[in-house]
Amino acid sequence: METLKDVKQRVYKFGNKTADGNSTMKNLLGGKGANLAEMSAIGIPVPPGFTITTDVCTEYNKYGKNEVVALLKNDVEEAVANVENLMGTKFGSNENPCLLSVRSGARVSMPGMMDTVLNLGMNDNSVQGLIAKTGNARFAWDSYRRFVQMFGGVVLGVGAKSKEDHDPFEEIIHKAKEAKGVQLDTELEVEDLKQMVADFKAACTAYTGEEFPEDPWDQLWASITAVFDSWMNPRAIYYRGMNQIPEEWGTAVNVQAMVYGNMGNNSGTGVAFTRDAATGENVFNGEYLINAQGEDVVAGVRTPQQITLEGSKRWAVLAGVSEEDRKNKYPSLEELMPAIYEELNNTQDILEKHYNDMQDLEFTIQDGKLWMLQTRNGKRTAAAMVRIAMELLKDGMITEKEALLMQEPAKLDELLHPVFDGDAIKAAKVLAKGLPASPGAATGQIVFFADEANKYPQSILVRVETSPEDLEGMNIAKGILTARGGMTSHAAVVARGMGKCCVSGAGNIQINYKTRVMTIDGEELKEGDWISLNGSTGEVYDGKIGTKDAELSGNFGEIMKLADKYRKLGVRTNAETERECKVAVQFGAEGIGLCRTEHMFFEGERLVRMREMILAEDEAGRREALNKLLPIQRKDFKDVFAAMAGFPVTVRLLDPPLHEFVPHEEENQKEMADEMGISVEAIKQKVEDLKEFNPMLGHRGCRLGITYPEITEMQARAIIEAAMELKAEGVKTFPEIMIPLIGTVKEFKLQEEIVRRIAEQVFEEKGDRIDYLVGTMIEIPRAALTADKIAEAAEFFSFGTNDLTQMGFGYSRDDAGKFLPIYIEKGVLKSDPFQVLDQEGIGQLVEIGTSKGRSTNPKLKVGICGEHGGEPSSVEFCHSVGMNYVSCSPFRVPIARLAAAQAAIKEQA
Ligand code: PEP
Ligand code: MG
Repeated sequence: METLKDVKQRVYKFGNKTADGNSTMKNLLGGKGANLAEMSAIGIPVPPGFTITTDVCTEYNKYGKNEVVALLKNDVEEAVANVENLMGTKFGSNENPCLLSVRSGARVSMPGMMDTVLNLGMNDNSVQGLIAKTGNARFAWDSYRRFVQMFGGVVLGVGAKSKEDHDPFEEIIHKAKEAKGVQLDTELEVEDLKQMVADFKAACTAYTGEEFPEDPWDQLWASITAVFDSWMNPRAIYYRGMNQIPEEWGTAVNVQAMVYGNMGNNSGTGVAFTRDAATGENVFNGEYLINAQGEDVVAGVRTPQQITLEGSKRWAVLAGVSEEDRKNKYPSLEELMPAIYEELNNTQDILEKHYNDMQDLEFTIQDGKLWMLQTRNGKRTAAAMVRIAMELLKDGMITEKEALLMQEPAKLDELLHPVFDGDAIKAAKVLAKGLPASPGAATGQIVFFADEANKYPQSILVRVETSPEDLEGMNIAKGILTARGGMTSHAAVVARGMGKCCVSGAGNIQINYKTRVMTIDGEELKEGDWISLNGSTGEVYDGKIGTKDAELSGNFGEIMKLADKYRKLGVRTNAETERECKVAVQFGAEGIGLCRTEHMFFEGERLVRMREMILAEDEAGRREALNKLLPIQRKDFKDVFAAMAGFPVTVRLLDPPLHEFVPHEEENQKEMADEMGISVEAIKQKVEDLKEFNPMLGHRGCRLGITYPEITEMQARAIIEAAMELKAEGVKTFPEIMIPLIGTVKEFKLQEEIVRRIAEQVFEEKGDRIDYLVGTMIEIPRAALTADKIAEAAEFFSFGTNDLTQMGFGYSRDDAGKFLPIYIEKGVLKSDPFQVLDQEGIGQLVEIGTSKGRSTNPKLKVGICGEHGGEPSSVEFCHSVGMNYVSCSPFRVPIARLAAAQAAIKEQA
């Protein structure tokens, strides 16, 4: 042990613009300690202090408390003396007391592992010192009682004895307020607080059997060792287990001088940003308060003032404050304390240039001296994220790759949808809150029926829930609001596909279709009344609020161009209408990865013909109905191919179980019977026949095409004929015909034979040919495991990770909502595997499928078309397994482009 003591530095000091450590020493000093050292080393005025290393934590667990305290004693005493010198304070002084904060700090932040101890060093002497310095007895005594409470709770472990018991400190506060007949802590006076300190100490003694430590040194050692002990508490062990943090990392302990912004009119506190976090504009900005503590700025009791003169003037205009009043009542820091302002302005400049990113700063002015408490990369809106990166790049502060890595792909969504215009939203009244089912902003007049969506130029379709018949109305409406249904309800899924704003499952809404009125908490809204929806937050507002469209040029366009420069993965879209195709191409899609043909059968005449086919008694009847469907399908494919001219289009043959096309409610069955001129009984019988115990594992996918080959024939013909007609018109198409849900190579071959036979027939009829591919979805685990055999016949694979997840986990896509949230809450799963690909398990099936497939067919084209194709971490995985492309809904195309670029850059690094 003695030799260790000589060779090893255990305590790293910082302060006075110097430091023993720096930001590269996170493993030894923890994240917080390394960052404090870095700030001090580059000349930033941080309150002085010291960090005890993470290694000491390991020694502590090995050798125990006494040995380690003995090892640290001299170094810690010397470091405290350094703090006292730099601050001109003294531990326990009744004139100018040295007060400290003690915090844990692991390599990675572990929130909630151990609370902080503030105001350490408080005792009956130093409280007098704090009164002398601040002239504020209430503040001093309140700080004292907070210290006893924190130290008691965190270090001494004083707390409720059982679940049913109350926290003893809270009980004392409660009784004190009751005795005085007041409600708020702030209504307690000096004498009450003094009594509270005594009562708190007595509570500690009752709990521990020992006197509350008055000596600041005893307080300090107890706090330091409590931080080390906290590394092994059950909460921390559980957190480490969940986040794969090794026990041997240990935690550091940071001890730092307290500074106070409430020491009179020469003190203050504030927060600032080096650039505008909302717009990204390169202006230093922020707020401060004179004679205040940090929490006063955010508490909203006093009006915070602006730091810069420019910001102050802008604020006055928005707040309707005259220049006269602004100058007198709310002057900027720039005007009020010019020297401090200049130091702060220089500091923000140094910090931004040092970290090469927009910084979010916290500072305190104590008695005319500026202290920086914290700097970190600032949170920002999507618009600011894009603008800041592009401007830093243009200023030569970061590289192209760094600009791309600074983006949070999922956040781009904010930029792709309409947003509320201006400040009206701030004053708007929230009527209800549902689920943020599909992002964007919408405003319009209420309609309750899909077929009345065009009654007003701007309508919002309000339904209990939506069904496939509502498709057209949903398309016309500006937004959709439903009272029932979750994030995967029909309304939510369809709206996301359309890029239409949707709030689903707003439970406090009652809808009366007969009277055409919806009631929200007793308030009635009628058809034609204006409402507004925020599909990104789930909020429903009263009245009309202007919206503006997404801006896809400028900085956004430039960052996308950069992404394309670096990414290796292709990005396609899942789309089946001309409109979706156009949106997707505008967002940069390079083809369609999944055209779900069943979506083409859900409305109007198509649905009638489809039902005719389903109701047919025999093959002849089915063929008759299919013949009527053929021209409709051909036209649909022509529209889609033309919208995607020059790009490949993967068309999937019919996939869902047929019961999805027939009505299940009596009223709709009657309607269908009238329309088709048959009895309701016949329809009921058919619906009954189609019933399956487990439709997702039943008669669907290629099983339909194998039992009814005529369906595959019709679809293959429609696809090839559409492409041939376009070829005659000079439009280039690249059809890729995809067989769904195969589990054996034989299933694929049976369907492929039909497709190729029909294609040859059409070529013969037309006297011309086109190129096309026949491939398959890999969405059944057995298909992934036998991919080598399948790839001998198939020309491409597209991983249907929705079904692959369903069958790989054995979780029903439709029923998982009942238990997945609980699974996530209990830590069984980290995230919803239907949204974020489970790389550990389902990912193996994707890897095996890809490598086995390529082992027999090196040219095999591989993509993904499940929901995961637009989720950033899953896109990165797809890159790593060497896929050719990902495919996702149109509005996620830019997200996928960016995620793909990040994956490529990270791989190079
Ligand atoms: C899939 O299963 O991943 C897929 C894309 O097909 P669907 O969602 O239509 O079943
Ligand atoms: Mg599927």
